Amino acid sequence: MAQKACVVTGGAGFIGSHLVDALLEKGYRVIVLDNLLTGKEDNLSEAKKNPQFTFIRHDVTQTLPDMGTVDYIYHLASPASVVDYQKFAEETALVNSVGTRLMLEYAKNHHARFLFTSTSEVYGDPKEHPQSESYWGNVNPNGVRSCYDESKRYGEMMTMLYYRKYKTDVRIIRIFNTYGPRLKKDDGRVVSNFINQALTGEPLTIYGNGSQTRSPCYVSDMVSGLIAAMENDAATGEVINIGNPEEYTMIDLANKVKAMTGSQSEIVYLELPVDDPTRRRPDIAKAMRILGWKPTVTFDEGLKKTVEYYKST
Ligand code: UDP
Repeated sequence: MAQKACVVTGGAGFIGSHLVDALLEKGYRVIVLDNLLTGKEDNLSEAKKNPQFTFIRHDVTQTLPDMGTVDYIYHLASPASVVDYQKFAEETALVNSVGTRLMLEYAKNHHARFLFTSTSEVYGDPKEHPQSESYWGNVNPNGVRSCYDESKRYGEMMTMLYYRKYKTDVRIIRIFNTYGPRLKKDDGRVVSNFINQALTGEPLTIYGNGSQTRSPCYVSDMVSGLIAAMENDAATGEVINIGNPEEYTMIDLANKVKAMTGSQSEIVYLELPVDDPTRRRPDIAKAMRILGWKPTVTFDEGLKKTVEYYKST
């Protein structure tokens, strides 16, 4: 079989860079497009040693460079933390709309498979629990999070339009909360905040009363789910949740982080951000059925590796 060639947009980001490493490990050729708005070139320091790897600094909302024929296009480019996408609201809205259209056009013209990374945020503050792919969501269309939620929903629409109109070989993955090494210390996400607060002896900041839930997925599980979705014929034209269904309140998370780090930090309660979803947990029955995929890393194992990473950086 000829060697596969992949494009990863957002490949300098947290999930993107782990995906790049896994694809290179499989012996594939990998081209990253990233404008480094929120990604970091440092995340690609291992990848850059590999002759199969190419980095192109490029904003995918602008005319794309000619990358020749490629087999797989993973479209991950977008700010993704609540802090980042509110700071870069316009860039976020555009990369998921204009950027998705341009990447789909490239896939269509080069007969490449296309994977759009959508988000559990398309479910908004969900009225159905756990969230399965058939749930349409409860989203504020013009609130402070809408630059992300609504542009991802638009991206899903455009992806399905190319599937229906041009028969482009697409799949949509809804990524649930993911954590692990390379999650930026200062991007405001709960796992990175709590661990870094615990390690420096600062108070752990719980927003609201801490009863809201999330279901954290370790990054290597996320990456194996994305690759399975790309390479599985049965995923064509499908929308699939990838995440870990183990659900925790923010109070549970704070206590787990404190126990694992042996931290004496106190816990403080701050104001809940606007439109913060009260609960989130993926129904992964479809991923298990279609992809034969399920997460394998327990929260304790993943947390330990993430704590080690922050200690060493
Ligand atoms: N959160 C928190 N303390 C923090 C950061 C976040 O309690 O220091 C809460 C936040 O209000 C939300 C949950 O943790 O309910 C997950 O937030 P995150 O930004 O990690 O992801 P998302 O909101 O996108 O699920």
